[in-house]
Amino acid sequence: MTSRLITNIGELVTCDPSVGDGSALGILRDAAIVIDGGVVAWVGPAAAAPATDEVTDLEGRCVVPGFVDSHTHLVFAGERSAEFAARMAGEPYTGGGIATTVAATRAASTGQLRAAAAKRLAEMTASGTTTVEAKSGYGLTVADEVRLLELSRESTAETTFLGAHVVPQEYLRDRGAYVDLVAGEMLAACAPHARWIDVFCDQGAFDAEETRHILRAGIAAGLEPRLHGNQLAHGSGALVAAEFGAASVDHCNHLMDTDVAALACAGVVATLLPAADFCTRTPYPDARRLLDAGVTVALATDCNPGTSYVTSMPLVIALAVRELGLTPAEALWAATAGGAAALRRSDIGTLAVGSGADLAVLDAPSYVHLAYRPGAPLVVQTWQDGTRLSPPRGVR
Ligand SMILES: [Zn+2]
Repeated sequence: MTSRLITNIGELVTCDPSVGDGSALGILRDAAIVIDGGVVAWVGPAAAAPATDEVTDLEGRCVVPGFVDSHTHLVFAGERSAEFAARMAGEPYTGGGIATTVAATRAASTGQLRAAAAKRLAEMTASGTTTVEAKSGYGLTVADEVRLLELSRESTAETTFLGAHVVPQEYLRDRGAYVDLVAGEMLAACAPHARWIDVFCDQGAFDAEETRHILRAGIAAGLEPRLHGNQLAHGSGALVAAEFGAASVDHCNHLMDTDVAALACAGVVATLLPAADFCTRTPYPDARRLLDAGVTVALATDCNPGTSYVTSMPLVIALAVRELGLTPAEALWAATAGGAAALRRSDIGTLAVGSGADLAVLDAPSYVHLAYRPGAPLVVQTWQDGTRLSPPRGVR
């Protein structure tokens, strides 16, 4: 195994508060990293770096931990630009469009689904994402949900069974039977391919009792809970997440003080998805209120064809700073270490000794440019487990 020095880093963000400037971002200037065996083996001033087999000189660029996109619906077929255009013309989002994607996904071949997901994943990698969570939820039959999870597993270990995304058309007259299917035969078939169980606990989706029933079954099958909640209305998602000790409750647009207190008390991460609010033109959640209450906040894309066909974590960071009231430092932390917390991972989201060597190189003097220059292609290299993924060697 060859060791590699990445040096001449103008600004290195480690998200390790024990090094550098002592802030949560643990920033070092004129820094270097040594990678060995796919993990970070040394971090410090470039002038003090040890000898290695290979050297990469970044000429003063900024390095941040690779982004952890802890909420995506990676595998699906089709697209819904017409629905987007209609919504921008004034039609409200009700969640009904999911059925369109379910039909397209069921009709697609496995090869078509794999190719579509790979294209999205390549966009994510090129914009600095090194860990992706991927949910099922556009199959909604036993065989189709298994197929989506098997495809997701080809890209990530962070796979989530979301049979309870919506009640499919064929069960609209007997939703109880669908909930029983999800918590029974579908869960049994999907559990071997998933780490997490998720439910869309919201107005027009699944209520608190249905959510509890499905989460209980998922936990009994060895899965860990996370939820979609409080996006469309003030519902029970946050409280049920706290009750079950979920890793994360995602969206959080409509929270009461009791919800916020319950999340803080139970240590549930609030994952905010501002690209979904941006793309649906709905009010943003109040991130400041969550942070002030001691809730850990993560940021993710919610990449999906209906409400957030977004693959870029830099865009999400820019939105979080402009619209959620986070500082650039808080937004970067939420997109890296925060995402890792939402996935209960301590080996990613930071560039500390022993962490996975997952990083993004920015063609900028500071990470602040992620928010300061929205839309600019600042990520010029992405490294995962010590290997450069993007751009492929020889292309650039
Ligand atoms: Zn989602």
